[in-house]
Amino acid sequence: MPDVVTRFAPSPTGHLHIGGARTAVFSWLLARHFGGRFYLRIEDTDTLRSKQEYTDTILASMRWLGLDWDGAPVYQTQRAHLYDSFVDKLLATGHAYWCGCTPEEVEAMRELARQNHEKPRYNGKCRERRLGPGKGHCVRLKIPLTGKVIFDDMVKGRIAVDVGELDDMVIRRADGMSTYNLAVVADDSDMGVTHVLRGDDHVSNTPRQILIYQALGLPVPHFGHVPMILGHDRQKLSKRHGARSVIEYQRDGLLPQALVSYLARLGWSHGNQEIFSLEELISYFDGGNLNPAAAAFDPAKLEWANAQFLRGLPPGELARLVAPFVREEGLDETPEERLAGLCLLFRERAVDLRALARSFRPLLVPAAELVVDDKDAAKHLTESGREHLRALAEILRACESFDATSLNDALNSYVADNALSFKQVAPPLRTALMGFMGGSHLNEIMAFLGREETLKRVKRAAESTHRTTALRCL
Ligand code: GLU
Repeated sequence: MPDVVTRFAPSPTGHLHIGGARTAVFSWLLARHFGGRFYLRIEDTDTLRSKQEYTDTILASMRWLGLDWDGAPVYQTQRAHLYDSFVDKLLATGHAYWCGCTPEEVEAMRELARQNHEKPRYNGKCRERRLGPGKGHCVRLKIPLTGKVIFDDMVKGRIAVDVGELDDMVIRRADGMSTYNLAVVADDSDMGVTHVLRGDDHVSNTPRQILIYQALGLPVPHFGHVPMILGHDRQKLSKRHGARSVIEYQRDGLLPQALVSYLARLGWSHGNQEIFSLEELISYFDGGNLNPAAAAFDPAKLEWANAQFLRGLPPGELARLVAPFVREEGLDETPEERLAGLCLLFRERAVDLRALARSFRPLLVPAAELVVDDKDAAKHLTESGREHLRALAEILRACESFDATSLNDALNSYVADNALSFKQVAPPLRTALMGFMGGSHLNEIMAFLGREETLKRVKRAAESTHRTTALRCL
């Protein structure tokens, strides 16, 4: 395949959202699969709605997702000269003409067409008038009078549109600004884009853009229009469906690999595989197998994908990633080595980095600050529960080494020697150590805490005043 060049062309009128990110993922993958180039173009010509803040967060989100782009980002607001040169060329070659019709006249033409049950369109009044520039004059593309625009969409298959459906569109407005479709063609052509993957809200622009390419005698890129992502109720995706912007996912502690893998899978498939590493995606994604039916966003599935990636990360790397979230939780600075230990203890249960960091809290606060759940205390720190804790305190104090294996042996012996069941011993111990009935294996928790801190917790619970609460609750 000759050089594949793709681009992602967001408008900075909001943060990068799920739909835009998926288009970016597809475009990036196509370029990387074929060893081509991937460009970023900021379509910021809508100066009223575009904001620098959004450009910044879009770039940051792209970086966070690992979607690196080639060269510097291109800004449409800096390229008016390019668009002008395209319009001038179209004028010079007779493929465009000046139009002096007022907006009211054009609206009247449209209204007449509507009354005749035709498509509302400009009637070509100025096509042959040979007008030049002048106040209120715009430039229109002179489209063919008959024929069809046909293209093979990478997602939707063959699309054919009769030129009768279109009209001589404005390519430069009366204020001198080039229009959207002209700018996109000028940019894509100038950047050498070979494959345009974008949302199918743009599918109606494509025949118009193709007519501009044809008028200029330029090669027409391949197009692929991916369907919008919907909510579970098949309605337009919004916050109420649990969809958030990429930057929010980042803040909440999602892993970028999980989001990329989930987004790629949303509208594309490779057998039944659900989870993909970046390398796998690059190797499998060739622009085929894109689903023409709209996919529904499922937050639970994204959460599941994230949990899979969390578990697959080496503890050291996970510790590095979770560290900022631990700080955000207001927990003391913890060496990464200890964080890695905590990751091993809790990663099976966490869905994202924030939840993972939160789950560390009981083990990172000093015994005196451990919050004990009233209900669990009432249920498990009973007279007999505290009796077990007193006995365990003695055993733990005497335990020769305080590693997970020795502690496991010690617990097992206590249960066996006293003809007890684990159900009698574990809940009070768990409540003592964690403050509630959650967490990981008891022996591992104690090994992590160390002897001193473990004993503090066990003693505190054994002597707890929760008895009064317990009695009250009973
Ligand atoms: N700026 C357009 C958008 O954000 C993309 C246009 C294109 O990809 O051609 O929807």
